[in-house]
Amino acid sequence: MTPTILEKKTITDRLLISWIRCRRKAWLDLYEENKHKDWSAHRALQLDHQYKSFSALLSEAPNRGIEALKRGSNGVVGLRLKGIGPQGLKIEAHPPLLKKINLGSPWGDFSYIPVVAQQGRRLTREHRLSLALWSYLLEQVQQIEVKYGLAVSIRNAGSLDIQEIAITKKLTNELFDSLKRLYKDIRKDVSPGLIADRKKCTLCSWKKLCDEKANEEEDLSEISGIGAKRKIILQEIGIKNLSQLALIDKDDLTNKLSPYGESHKKIAGQLIRQAKVQKKLSPERLSSSMALPELNSAEGVFIYDIESDPDAHHDFLHGFVSLAKRKDGTWLLDDVKYQPILNLSNHTEEIAWGNIKRKLKSHPNWPVLHYGETESLSICRMAKRQGEEDKEINIIRNKFIDIHSRLKGSWVLPVNSYSLKEVAKWLKFEWSQKGSSGAKALLWWRQCQKAISQNNIKPKQLELIMRYNQDDCIATWKIAEWIIDKK
Ligand code: SF4
Repeated sequence: MTPTILEKKTITDRLLISWIRCRRKAWLDLYEENKHKDWSAHRALQLDHQYKSFSALLSEAPNRGIEALKRGSNGVVGLRLKGIGPQGLKIEAHPPLLKKINLGSPWGDFSYIPVVAQQGRRLTREHRLSLALWSYLLEQVQQIEVKYGLAVSIRNAGSLDIQEIAITKKLTNELFDSLKRLYKDIRKDVSPGLIADRKKCTLCSWKKLCDEKANEEEDLSEISGIGAKRKIILQEIGIKNLSQLALIDKDDLTNKLSPYGESHKKIAGQLIRQAKVQKKLSPERLSSSMALPELNSAEGVFIYDIESDPDAHHDFLHGFVSLAKRKDGTWLLDDVKYQPILNLSNHTEEIAWGNIKRKLKSHPNWPVLHYGETESLSICRMAKRQGEEDKEINIIRNKFIDIHSRLKGSWVLPVNSYSLKEVAKWLKFEWSQKGSSGAKALLWWRQCQKAISQNNIKPKQLELIMRYNQDDCIATWKIAEWIIDKK
């Protein structure tokens, strides 16, 4: 059945935003059944950021609808704008906020400009074209040219970045061109291919569906070590999928990659090995030496994982699992003890640091296992901020063992990514809270902050974050344990 949007030849701002992110996403939004779509925490995080940014911009709550616009409210939401675009396309949009400015219109000595919340450091094409679309439709309502829009973003410590974005002829032309191309794409019977840069898929609610397609088609992006650029290069030299990469001779691939630079050339053998392992679904050892020799003599280990708010550069939870080795030299996960050390605001870092130091000193010879370089870097930076001597920081740094780096140095696994989630999933580890993820933990944290600001000192989301953090620690141990078992 043809979706209504095409019958009416109407394009919405939501569809345009989807298309800018990924052409395939716009097509799936229109034609694919919603049961294949997963809820994504990123949309909720985006709305949270938008709400905070708009609240900081306006001195009072915005009003709703066309009447609010006509009577000159400072901020207006809930308005549906309609108009005709290129090729007679009907366009509809719901700008998230219109802000009053002192420029006359038929309604009085005021008119409006659109506002977009800019999440992330960079202003993107999505922000610019959204502003251009809302401006184009708004001009038809208020009968006055919209010369600029605003991109706003709440930053650390509540400061608000405000940027004026000029709505130029060139930008409007780019918008029209995009609308025409979007309309052409969504009239096709088959969906566009997967996006080249599949890192963007982590934010998308169609990820599971597209992962299945990538897997079925043996898409090159499914191979660990192949990003958007390398995929294009491999396609250019005639390698279209995982099977072809697994079969090619190493010298042949090295020669073919030479014109693209040293970094691609020297990785040829690694790519073929990874493709072979993923093809035969069986891990391959890289080195006969022990990957974790420190654990032979260790009486126990700490497993450590941080939860952070990247926008605020704030590590709000330091989770430690303590695991003592048994007298018979074995490790048993039943013996774990979890201690969450909270750092609810950057003002409480001194207390958190005191607790972390006490924790580390409780077993001064135990190594600290973690997954990825973030934990070690963050704790050393924290120690520095708290005035520790370089000598002391070095002692702390030397306790840390990055399981991710040891794993990659000693094994090739049949996984498309060596992230904690993918490797632990391959080992059949399951997080106790279904659908949990880093993005969801961040959303819980934002909800916690709101609850704490309303004097709820023990919000329920804090429990959820701690459970997630404990699971991350246990997943890290599961990987370490697998390495130890393989000797
Ligand atoms: S999961 Fe990736 S390829 Fe699929 S629609 Fe989303 S962004 Fe595009």
